[in-house]
Amino acid sequence: MRMQRWRIRVTGVVQGVGYRPFVWRLAHSSRLSGWVRNDSMGVLIEAQGSRTELAEFCGRLRSEAPSLSLVRDILHETIDSVPKEHAFRINTGQKEADPHAFVSPDVSICSDCLAEINDPADRRYQYPFTNCTACGPRYTIITKLPYDRASTTMSDFEMCTSCRREYDNPADRRFHAQPNACPECGPSTWFIKSGENQEIRGRDAMQAVKESVARGGIVAIKGVGGFHLACDARNSEAVAKLRERKHRFEKPLAVMVADIATCESIAVLSDADRVLLESRQRPIVVLHRQEGAESLCELVAPGSDFVGVVLAYSPLHSLLLRPGDVWVMTSGNLSDEPIAYDNDDAIERLRKIADAFLLHDRRIETVCDDSVLRVLDGEVLPIRRSRGYAPLPIKLPTDGPPVLAVGGEIKATACVTKGHHCFLSQHIGDMGNQETLSAMENAVDHLLRLYNIKPDSVVADQHPNYLSSAWAEQFSRKHAVPMLRVQHHHAHVASLLAEHSIVPEEKIIGVCFDGTGFGTDEAIWGGEWLIANASDFERYAHLAYLPLPGGDACIRHPSRSALAALYQAGIEWSDSLASVFVTAAKERTVLDQQLQRNFRCVPSSSMGRLFDAVASLCGVRHVVSYEGQAAMECEAIAARKLDESQFKPYDITVIDGDIQQIDTTHLIHQIVSELLRKRSAADILVRFHLTVAEMIARISLNARAKHRIDRVGLTGGVFQNVLLTRLARQRLMHEGFEVLTHTIVPPNDGGLALGQAWIAQRRTVLLHRERYLFGGEAPSYDQDR
Ligand SMILES: [Zn+2]
Ligand SMILES: [Zn+2]
Ligand SMILES: [Zn+2]
Repeated sequence: MRMQRWRIRVTGVVQGVGYRPFVWRLAHSSRLSGWVRNDSMGVLIEAQGSRTELAEFCGRLRSEAPSLSLVRDILHETIDSVPKEHAFRINTGQKEADPHAFVSPDVSICSDCLAEINDPADRRYQYPFTNCTACGPRYTIITKLPYDRASTTMSDFEMCTSCRREYDNPADRRFHAQPNACPECGPSTWFIKSGENQEIRGRDAMQAVKESVARGGIVAIKGVGGFHLACDARNSEAVAKLRERKHRFEKPLAVMVADIATCESIAVLSDADRVLLESRQRPIVVLHRQEGAESLCELVAPGSDFVGVVLAYSPLHSLLLRPGDVWVMTSGNLSDEPIAYDNDDAIERLRKIADAFLLHDRRIETVCDDSVLRVLDGEVLPIRRSRGYAPLPIKLPTDGPPVLAVGGEIKATACVTKGHHCFLSQHIGDMGNQETLSAMENAVDHLLRLYNIKPDSVVADQHPNYLSSAWAEQFSRKHAVPMLRVQHHHAHVASLLAEHSIVPEEKIIGVCFDGTGFGTDEAIWGGEWLIANASDFERYAHLAYLPLPGGDACIRHPSRSALAALYQAGIEWSDSLASVFVTAAKERTVLDQQLQRNFRCVPSSSMGRLFDAVASLCGVRHVVSYEGQAAMECEAIAARKLDESQFKPYDITVIDGDIQQIDTTHLIHQIVSELLRKRSAADILVRFHLTVAEMIARISLNARAKHRIDRVGLTGGVFQNVLLTRLARQRLMHEGFEVLTHTIVPPNDGGLALGQAWIAQRRTVLLHRERYLFGGEAPSYDQDR
């Protein structure tokens, strides 16, 4: 038998996931000699054996890969064989520049480790930092690639003999588990009361947390990617206190439970919900509340049919929550600030909110909030993509230059590209303050350093006043790279194109519904049909403009949008309409004058504002305390009532022209006449949802007749609404359309950076870069068309 030697290159998520010991075991069982090692490209193997054995070995490198790995490519070349080589070794320690390997996201505790921490005979009994190669932190502790203990915050701890033995043994499930630790050598926890210095350490610390929560206290708990604020979800006094101190008055608070059984006592679960809850990403899943659930006080999600639930995902959380416990577990921050993740910073910022702290001494290198998802017809609908998912790359259909995209103003994420890979950062937050800006800076720095990327250009939204755009301008000057601006809704559509790997030239009908986006005509867009591909778009249709008195003030006051809509429809402001009734006479006079003179009225085609107007007309909500609140309540009310056989959409009027428009005044007339006939809000909201779905279908049919495009994409924050998305999809599929929805990035502005990056890459590839050197001026591509 003739010996051959192959050098085999494996790329993908293959570091820190038990890939090398897997290769080692495979080589041993196949009786191959050689070695395997991690390097900055991924995993490199040299293996020696017969040609058949080597080919089979390569096949199994993919087919039997460990569950946490994500093998992209396996390439091999034949090299000179090495005489008298008998063993197969794992080589460690080699390092190279220019990392191409991917960083794994953080992974929830595995069942083996869970069993260990619950076994009194085990040396890791009740140890909150237990992990193995199949579980534990990754992205939040890594400082640089390749992923080695020295490149993580675990470098602060020296392994004891027992841990070292596990770490060095290829047959052990802790072989090269970088965060490997035990009570003897690893990080530890301690409990302190706010404003006091006395520490309670170790197991007693965990006990102190439980007691504090049981007594109605609020405890700031340092977890995997940052701090949570915890309290008993049954205790309405505690929850009220938390809301008060956190300045978060109505927005639903997420809860954590230990197991599925407890989850079922508070929420209704589909099979898909259950799979998602138990997945190793362990996101918060938005579920329908179980009616009359006693382990959840009303204040957790006031007036909402939904509740966000997460299963305990780290050993620390598993040790704190017992079956039956339901704890509020909300991000450790003050209203709009980023989440705290450093001990001193947390004590400083959270001491006025928390009665006590559970701290530990494992540093968090990268802050990472919990991810939030919904389930739509058995599929995942991301609402916030963060822990468990970031920074897994999204693969673009083509290669391109490296770019940096900074997203929009709210739900900010940043995105960097390398070749055909897009790395979307964890959720950063709303860009309202200095803290969030520096969080953005850290996230960008970390991604650029980690993957050794020097962006060719930086991309931002077209809005003139976004803080993220100002930040991008600074970046552009500092690094002498051109800055591009991308229209908000085009970026939404492009994010959908990117995640579905649609080839760059291909156009789709992009239905983009959201709250606010700066249009090329300087109006506020948000109810758009775009004919778009990855580099360009044309506005095909939109909701007719509604003049919004005071612009942004309308976002907080749906009643203002309602009054504007009534005014535009020529309907008198009568006290019999809830929206009018709740508006003080004085305010009405001011609004009326503003509308009559068109003074400080911003034209808006936003579907978000139309939802607001309808919510207020129906008496559902006149003032919101968080973004999307009115729409979410409308969805819940309609979902409870929906029985399609009884309901029909309202009549829709389309105004023809170069760009088609939906006449919303006709819709408002129909709704008001129903209200005056005392039709219930629920009935009207069901019909409204059906009407919006019908609009989507009607305009898409028109667009298909003209452009011969069969593919429709649904994107923008409005499509967080599962009911609307489902209705629209059914209607479109009935008309023979192929429908794209989001499953990887959120439809809201959390996905914007991905779309921006993809557009920037394509434009840079297609045209001379000079054309995009705007120097802060109005973008030139509008005139290009
Ligand atoms: Zn494990
Ligand atoms: Zn140890
Ligand atoms: Zn948007």
